[in-house]
Amino acid sequence: MDMPAHDVLLVGGGAAGLRAAIAAAQAREGINIGVVSKVYPMRSHTVSAEGGTAAVLREYDNLDLHAYDTIKGSDFLADQDVVEAFVKEARDEIIQLEHWGCPWSRDPDGRVSVRAFGGMSVKRTLFAADKTGFHMLHALFQTSLKYDAITRYDEWFVTSLLIDDGKACGVAALNLRSGGIHAIPAKAVIICTGGGGRIFPFTTNAAIKTGDGMALAYRAGCPMKDMEFVQYHPTGLPGTGILMTEASRGEGGHLLNSEGERYLSEYVPGKMELGPRDILSRAFVHEMRAGRVFEGTYGNYVHLDLRHLGEKVINEKLPFVRELTRNYVGIDPVHEPIPVRPVVHYMMGGVHTDINGAMPIPGLFAAGEAACVSLNGANRLGSNSLSECLVFGARAGNLAAAYAAEAEPPRPGTLRNMARDEQNRIETKYLRPQNRSERIDDIRSEMQTAMEQGAGIYRTQGELKETCETLRKLKARYDTVGLDDRSGVFNTELIAALELGYMLDVAEAVAHSALHREESRGSHARSDFEMRNDEHYLQHSLAYRTEDGPRIDYLPATITRWQLEERKY
Ligand SMILES: Cc1cc2nc3c(=O)[nH]c(=O)nc-3n(C[C@H](O)[C@H](O)[C@H](O)COP(=O)(O)OP(=O)(O)OC[C@H]3O[C@@H](n4cnc5c(N)ncnc54)[C@H](O)[C@@H]3O)c2cc1C
Repeated sequence: MDMPAHDVLLVGGGAAGLRAAIAAAQAREGINIGVVSKVYPMRSHTVSAEGGTAAVLREYDNLDLHAYDTIKGSDFLADQDVVEAFVKEARDEIIQLEHWGCPWSRDPDGRVSVRAFGGMSVKRTLFAADKTGFHMLHALFQTSLKYDAITRYDEWFVTSLLIDDGKACGVAALNLRSGGIHAIPAKAVIICTGGGGRIFPFTTNAAIKTGDGMALAYRAGCPMKDMEFVQYHPTGLPGTGILMTEASRGEGGHLLNSEGERYLSEYVPGKMELGPRDILSRAFVHEMRAGRVFEGTYGNYVHLDLRHLGEKVINEKLPFVRELTRNYVGIDPVHEPIPVRPVVHYMMGGVHTDINGAMPIPGLFAAGEAACVSLNGANRLGSNSLSECLVFGARAGNLAAAYAAEAEPPRPGTLRNMARDEQNRIETKYLRPQNRSERIDDIRSEMQTAMEQGAGIYRTQGELKETCETLRKLKARYDTVGLDDRSGVFNTELIAALELGYMLDVAEAVAHSALHREESRGSHARSDFEMRNDEHYLQHSLAYRTEDGPRIDYLPATITRWQLEERKY
């Protein structure tokens, strides 16, 4: 089946994808846009964001301060031109979202409320109770519905990016309802597929966060950037990994060890519970080693204590925290402290792009968590990510629309051949082979264990080498993975197999980038190289795909007005 060519095709219907789609739709009359999403857009992980989104909107705040906080938070690896653009544009994006109907929480004087967040010098995190992502995604989704230019492919799964003559010409995608593989032609493709926390066993990330777009770009020849920087959030529920939002500390919650002490006074005395996530997660490990944590069925934990906030504040500002703890651990935070431990939450790294979201391959763009535009460097500050999706989603949407206006349309014959080849590849690799013994679940859990053991909060050369070696073997085993379900309609086993393939690529990029970075910076803590080394590593790592595993190269970070300093809080 030949489809109409889109000018711009979004892969992803989360905050970044929908923001980019709207920007492209507004770019000019007659433009034709597609949005492909493996789940209905409102089920994208953005919907689960809780705490809020950062922008300078108060008189006591200013853009330079937001920029400085972000750069310091990044341990000076953020590209400073990117940060400057970000803080400036985040403000307008937030106001625009208000006009599109986002129901921000309000102060009694009618102004949009702001709360404190980790690593931010002042209160600048806007929120809609503790369901910010839910409300933002609704506002974006309902706005996207206004544009006839946007065609949606809900529950279509992208299996590869199509490149003709060195330029993007669309994607190959599996229609989950029919099982058919189609080429969706487009002059420009924007990857907005979110993060890949599922390469680890214990994560806040939804099951769909399998790093698909990062691997798709990698396979198409674009490097993944800064993949060693994986963010642990200090407060997840043991067992499930469900997030206890940073807003609970922003509203005044305390972290207590098993001796009832606010132990952060030892590690971040200037910020306490509002220190950045990397430092707080490491503090937990130190407390664990010192034997000052609780032991439970799902490992060690500390307490997040909200009792002193009182029922009224908890109900008004943190209703979701109360709902989640009641439902998942049978605890009411009004009366009892909540058990928490660090949990994999976010990937600072992603598809290498420039400041506007352009990838090195003409016609390919990326935005949101899947991209590494270099805003977050070695550690992201909480609440910068939702704003990042808006700012860089809009930038990528605009640039892709401008690119498409000049680009040649894809060639239908070439696309037909590419779709046929892709159908063959998937049938030959996954659906036809019989009696294969390797199981998806075995490989996936061994990968997750290897990542936690070698590439967790603390890393060493020996453990990282072991993880890289395990991943190499798992990739070989993956080539003979066997499926029981050979049907076409909603073949979730096939999807799980394809996602596992993506995750193995992403995991390898993380482990190899971490092995090569012989310093400690932000979330990347090497026990064998404890200091930051600006002389050698004030650089972004780039992981390129080769037949023998990732090849790591470097790109200098951009420094403009903010000079390097020791990162202390
Ligand atoms: C529990 C939780 C709470 C958070 N809270 C906050 C917060 O308070 N503030 C903040 O700033 N950040 C927060 N974050 C981070 C932030 O929510 C995410 O980084 C951000 O929402 C990512 O948006 P995105 O548009 O890049 O991707 P997502 O929202 O993850 O969307 C990805 C899209 O890509 C599609 N997709 C993926 N693969 C394929 C494929 N192969 N084919 C087709 N479609 C595909 C999916 O269907 C989906 O539509 C939180 C994250 C989590 C997990």
